Amino acid sequence: MSLRLVLRLPPLILAMSFPSDAAAQARQAPAAPEPIRYTLSFPAPQTHYVDVEATVPTRGRPQIDLEMAVWTPGSYLVREYSRHVDEATAMAGGQARPVEKTAKNRWRVQTGGAPTVTVRYRVYGREMTVRTNFIESDFALINGAATFLTLADDTTPRPHEVTLTLPAAWKTTMTGLQATAGGVAHQYRAADFDTLVDSPIVAGNPAVYEFTVKGTPHFLVNVGEGGVWDGQKSAVDVQKIVEAQAVFWGGLPYDRYVFINMITEGTGGLEHKNSTVLMTSRWRTRARRGYVDWLSLVSHEFFHTWNVKRLRPVELGPFEYERENYTKTLWVAEGFSDYYGDLLAVRAGVMTPEESLGSLSEMIASLQTTPGRLAQSVEDASFDAWVRYYRPDENTPNSTISYYTKGGVIAFLLDIEIRKATNNARSLDDLMTQAYAHYSAAKGFTSGEFRALASEVAGIDLSAWFQTALDTTDELAYDDLSWLGLRFKPEVASTKAWVGLTTAMPGATLRNDNGRLVVVQVRRGTPVFDAGVNAEDEILAIGGYRVRPDQWEARLEAFRPGEKVPLLVARRERVLTLEVTPATEPPRAWRLEPDPAAVDAAKARLAGWLRP
Ligand SMILES: [Zn+2]
Repeated sequence: MSLRLVLRLPPLILAMSFPSDAAAQARQAPAAPEPIRYTLSFPAPQTHYVDVEATVPTRGRPQIDLEMAVWTPGSYLVREYSRHVDEATAMAGGQARPVEKTAKNRWRVQTGGAPTVTVRYRVYGREMTVRTNFIESDFALINGAATFLTLADDTTPRPHEVTLTLPAAWKTTMTGLQATAGGVAHQYRAADFDTLVDSPIVAGNPAVYEFTVKGTPHFLVNVGEGGVWDGQKSAVDVQKIVEAQAVFWGGLPYDRYVFINMITEGTGGLEHKNSTVLMTSRWRTRARRGYVDWLSLVSHEFFHTWNVKRLRPVELGPFEYERENYTKTLWVAEGFSDYYGDLLAVRAGVMTPEESLGSLSEMIASLQTTPGRLAQSVEDASFDAWVRYYRPDENTPNSTISYYTKGGVIAFLLDIEIRKATNNARSLDDLMTQAYAHYSAAKGFTSGEFRALASEVAGIDLSAWFQTALDTTDELAYDDLSWLGLRFKPEVASTKAWVGLTTAMPGATLRNDNGRLVVVQVRRGTPVFDAGVNAEDEILAIGGYRVRPDQWEARLEAFRPGEKVPLLVARRERVLTLEVTPATEPPRAWRLEPDPAAVDAAKARLAGWLRP
């Protein structure tokens, strides 16, 4: 449970601290296939390339097929990583050998009968996301799916070994992979391709903070602190989150865990079995609101260590890397991780109950003001993640619902259902830990199994409740908030004219395009939807007078609900007059607060649920 600063920890010490189990594996499983050995080097990192050399065993075959993943687990979109692979060549038996592309992500290599071939290629990486590569002058983030060609159609788990050759100024590599037994600097071994893909590597000169929880080492690896990010504070708080989640799940399911925190002005996080990659703005430790968002992200990604990396939908393992892996239960994987991300940050003492309630309120408001909740069920949203979630467009809010958002609200309401049904003896916590006990080994869960287990934990039949929440677009019911001592804060209905377009953040549906007022999206159920306003229309005038972006909100106040108002727009340079009839904005009464009229029992339940 100690925390100490380990700036630029030499990799040799890492290797000594955490000896590889390769030797033990070799004793127990002599039949393991020969590894593929990769060397990664960065001769000109400022050009954003990593050079890869792979030594691939052939078993004497005259030709071998190599494949690259088209997606990476946790981010459900075919990303076509192979588009960044350049200049593939092969050598075998001292001679250059032909390499031929046979598919978008496959290469056929003639071996000349040699026992191994050496394949060389370069990978371009300059996409600042948690699931792609980024290489520049002073650091590299390497994701397995985006980097490594492996033997296609390999039937047995094959070890993959990676050695990084760093530019002289770079001193450190960090990854969830185990160091090899030999103590060679920056050399790691994955027991199989899944582990390689699941273990991003960061190289450069990050600040490394080590702490132990339950005797297990953890590392917070900060890339780009830049004299702005408070590394020490962030490490202390990450440790508290780990401690709270270890209590929740009853232990830690790994030998070592690495938080790779890219302070690179990107966003997002991606979960792995014993590591995660986070992206953040460097200013986040300087203002409470932004810092809370980062802590929430850390907690969400760390919750995935169990929820989805081990307790998983049946379809998410073993992975097919060359095509989509469809599942209907991302509402558990993502929604429940959102819900518990905040709740466990409260239990860890790094977030206040009020902050958590505020964030839950925003989730509910987001669900209840998104028209797509009435168009798509949450299980359909999960199934369609591959074509919709990562490809939002102007119609997304009208046609889809986020399985994060609706899944998070379902977690909250299911928690109340279970607590109420068991007179507060059990909760969603029991469902999660029991589900983990049942489904965390080789076996994943189906939606039906998860629903059935919830009924078992609650001691009542929840199948009708689940059917409404998961299979239909019916509104969720918030009837039992008072049982938990909560209510929605009453809102005074607005009397102002509202047309459904706003420049106000968050949720702006208009943008200021160099002084032009341009429609970003038109939401179903708004006056502008009925008036025929389109996305990308430029609004020139309202009520017969010019309106500029900074005048929009104030100008609307000049009109009354029910009044017919001409709206002059330019659409692909053609000027049109539309007629809009402002209404009053539907009340956004989705802010949770303690119910002042709550009975003592309900107040006690609220305190127990949001316990720090
Ligand atoms: Zn997630």
